Amino acid sequence: MVSRVIPVDDFDLVIFGGTGDLARRKILPGLYRRYCSGQMPDQARIIGAARGDHDADEFRSMVRDAIKEFSKKNDCDDDKIEAFLKQLDFVSIDARGDKGWPELKGLMRDGVVKAFYFSVAPSLFGDIAERLHLNEIADAQSRIVVEKPFGRDLESAKALNKDLAKHFEETQIYRIDHYLGKETVQNLMAIRFGNILFEPLWNSQYVDHIQITVAETVGVGGRGEYYDKSGAMRDMVQNHLMQLLCLIAMEPPARFEPDSVRDEKLKVIRALEPVDPHHIVRGQYAATESEADYRTDAGDPRSRTESYVALRAMISNWRWAGTPFYLRTGKKLKARTSEIAVVFKDAPHSIFGPDAGRHRNILSIRVQPNEGITMQVTIKEPGPGGMRLIDVPLDMTFAEALGEEAEDIPDAYERLIMDVIRGNQTLFMRGDEVEAAWAWTDPIIQGWELRNDVPKPYDVGSSGPEDALMMMHRDGRRWREIKE
Ligand code: NAP
Repeated sequence: MVSRVIPVDDFDLVIFGGTGDLARRKILPGLYRRYCSGQMPDQARIIGAARGDHDADEFRSMVRDAIKEFSKKNDCDDDKIEAFLKQLDFVSIDARGDKGWPELKGLMRDGVVKAFYFSVAPSLFGDIAERLHLNEIADAQSRIVVEKPFGRDLESAKALNKDLAKHFEETQIYRIDHYLGKETVQNLMAIRFGNILFEPLWNSQYVDHIQITVAETVGVGGRGEYYDKSGAMRDMVQNHLMQLLCLIAMEPPARFEPDSVRDEKLKVIRALEPVDPHHIVRGQYAATESEADYRTDAGDPRSRTESYVALRAMISNWRWAGTPFYLRTGKKLKARTSEIAVVFKDAPHSIFGPDAGRHRNILSIRVQPNEGITMQVTIKEPGPGGMRLIDVPLDMTFAEALGEEAEDIPDAYERLIMDVIRGNQTLFMRGDEVEAAWAWTDPIIQGWELRNDVPKPYDVGSSGPEDALMMMHRDGRRWREIKE
């Protein structure tokens, strides 16, 4: 199988924050990969923009280093890198001042797609949008890409939406949630809506519950100060986990088109019940002999910010009434994994008698690592001795199923940037979706703040706080093991 690469139209892409961490780690190496695949036209241009006084050659040299540091080894071909770098330029610009804007205007071409990636702090989004407009750099066809976090509560998200809406239509705004760019996440839609097999069972009559786990082994690293103002609820649940929940729970959209898909996701968020305080657990990782605790990493000995959340979400609609969705995410857990598990109900009657034990079908969708899908099915244990049942996995690991082609699967950022150039908003969050997600998470966070809630400690390398296990236990269920 050879993957099909369809080149995008010619474009000028300006990356505000082009010298920052995200640009160096993800955006620029991602664009280089798209260049190597033949998807990026030879005339297309990428213009880095930041306050630093660099010239274009210094910027290219920084990008060369970034590609070598952050791309896979066999992606790095010196000739290709040099050819890619020729498509780069740089302008020294101040988002809050006058410096650099006329130069940027002078660099932009007419008649090509113009995209502006705001890879800067959200406090600068409004300033950049305004200056792009005042300097007549953006036009009605231009696109802007904004990074997370999109607000820290409903009020700030509304204010950001309002700032952007002063100068750009909703159809021009691409709010990134990179989880939506992941191959398996899109596969979730292919599995649900491309097969007749699952959809008839995809409801509370057949599904006992669903677990969504995003577990990390890393701590807050160098991002302690930023993370401590945010916590797992704002940093992970409000965006990534809720997006996964929407894709699992939404009704089939009429078409795979931006507003069809986003309308259905919005309906899910609006149907979420307020979370029962007995069904939410916050945690903070505790020190071990060799590792510091969260508070030390965050630089605040009295921090009450959570590095772990587990909660039970209920959706009040015809399809899902009574089926719990258990969400959990945390740092410094025992393994790095993102998984969605659809746990089906027991068969209505066991013809094999009580000795056969309890067996359930589980559809597990692994988002990362080892992307793939496993269906747990029940079969007879081979051999003589009567009818004993065992569970076996029907396994489709993409790397095995797709062979060499799996190597070419674009990373989430690559895919999403190409979608921006193509003008396809399907995998980006709409303003009302983001606001609805905050409207659901705000009362939870406010409740913690009002009660001065102290997160429960959990051991580094564990599955999270004991209370999260108990929460499941009380519901007569068990978390799936966190493993790679
Ligand atoms: P960063 O490393 O601090 O980089 C910030 C960039 O913005 C630098 O290039 C900086 O260059 C530029 N900048 C700062 N003030 C500016 C101004 N007034 N005018 C023009 N440029 C200015 O930040 P980052 O980690 O790349 O994050 C960028 C955005 O992505 C943030 O919204 C962040 O929340 C989001 N994000 C980051 C990650 C990640 O892994 N890093 C992941 C998800 C989302 P100068 O100082 O030279 O101006």
